[in-house]
Amino acid sequence: MGIRKISTRLPNGGGGSRDWNIRQDCRREDSKELCSEFAIHIANSVQGTLLELHGALGLSGTRLPSGFFKEIRADTCDPFSSLLSAPCSCPGPMQDSAGIFGGCRPFDNSAVALQQGMTEPRHGLGAGWERSLAQHRREVVEETVSQRRGLDAYSYTRYHPMEEIYQWMIQISEKYAEVVTQHFLGMTYETRPMYYLKISQPSNNPKKIIWMDCGIHAREWIAPAFCQWFVKEILQNYKDDSRIKKLLRNLDFYVLPVLNIDGYIYTWTTDRLWRKSRSSHNNGTCFGTDLNRNFNVSWCSIGASRNCQDITFCGTGPVSEPETKAVSSLIESKKDNIVCFLTMHSFGQLILTPYGYTKNKSSNHEELIQVGQKAANALKEKHGTNYRVGSSADILYATSGSSRDWARDMGIPFSYTFELRDNGTYGFVLPEAQIQATCEESMAAILSVLDDVYEKYWGVDSAGKAASSAAVVLGLLFSFMSLL
Ligand SMILES: [Zn+2]
Repeated sequence: MGIRKISTRLPNGGGGSRDWNIRQDCRREDSKELCSEFAIHIANSVQGTLLELHGALGLSGTRLPSGFFKEIRADTCDPFSSLLSAPCSCPGPMQDSAGIFGGCRPFDNSAVALQQGMTEPRHGLGAGWERSLAQHRREVVEETVSQRRGLDAYSYTRYHPMEEIYQWMIQISEKYAEVVTQHFLGMTYETRPMYYLKISQPSNNPKKIIWMDCGIHAREWIAPAFCQWFVKEILQNYKDDSRIKKLLRNLDFYVLPVLNIDGYIYTWTTDRLWRKSRSSHNNGTCFGTDLNRNFNVSWCSIGASRNCQDITFCGTGPVSEPETKAVSSLIESKKDNIVCFLTMHSFGQLILTPYGYTKNKSSNHEELIQVGQKAANALKEKHGTNYRVGSSADILYATSGSSRDWARDMGIPFSYTFELRDNGTYGFVLPEAQIQATCEESMAAILSVLDDVYEKYWGVDSAGKAASSAAVVLGLLFSFMSLL
């Protein structure tokens, strides 16, 4: 059917409109990127609309209606291709009496689903409801505008609740639109959208990928704070800092600021020391899976529990949780291009290499230790903080089903868990006063790792230099490594 034009208005984006040219079939490789962005746009729109509806009805929270996104877990694009297969019936942006529902059929559908997902009956609210909704919309827009002005003043030395991190992701990808895009990854158990940021300099170079996730364990608040710091540092410096400029020539950064969103929100509302996700088990008698025991690598063999009451509950099967499914499928689809997998935790001041599920060493163990040790040295130079480097089984404890081990066994050569500050004085409840120093030193360590990764593949001494075609050798190198 070719290209179809769709206009939507984004309620929580200040009311601006945007046209989308959407190909009929989102499954086509060349339109996946666009479809994914469209999915995010719709998700943000729905979320913004929910915020308004809930505000108008005096409810709290912005949970998306269950059911609306249920199919997205399987594939980012498919549910939207089914929405888009219906005729786009309206000629342009559409206004309802409250002025909030814009767009063509896909947006109409979301509005319908939104109403179906609401527990409060709409009838009986009448004209007063519409008036208060319109008024609330004005308030939200005003608030958004003031927040937008405030992005430069966004504090990277405070911990932020999830709503602010969602907002920050939208704002930062608007402000640095030339290098950052926000991508939909999947839905959490409690049907909240998961997004990652992709930092990429436009180029014809085939590029490799650095993955970084934060907040797989809910209570480790310093981790999401670091992911935000990392993104901020890259974006503020990529034009002038030759080191970052160089990295971006051949590398794209994929950053997932909060992996365990449901758990993170739970630590803000209910239990500061909650660790797991919020999935329900045993007929609602216990909650939460340890997402870092749920990956499909030696699942639940050691250092994990099958009892859902325990904090290391491994789930009902490998990759049983929507959050681990979402991460696994993205990593799997890009695994040939991912050279480095970084997962940020606290606490303990450790740089951990594979493995946790065995004392056996990975094939490039010595190299991993060397690169890790160099990173620990760079870290110490900043504020004198000591980190230890070693495999999880050697220097921490045995764990199975961790994302780090899984990533390494998928063939990703550099795979590390960072356990950030401290050593137990404050533990998970690291004071905000320590955010800056922790992030500064961690940034030094991560950049050291990235420098080494870069040198290995693109440095002057790398194998590519001697060859007539660097690309051929690089290809050989990667296929060789995947055999190890
Ligand atoms: Zn952790």
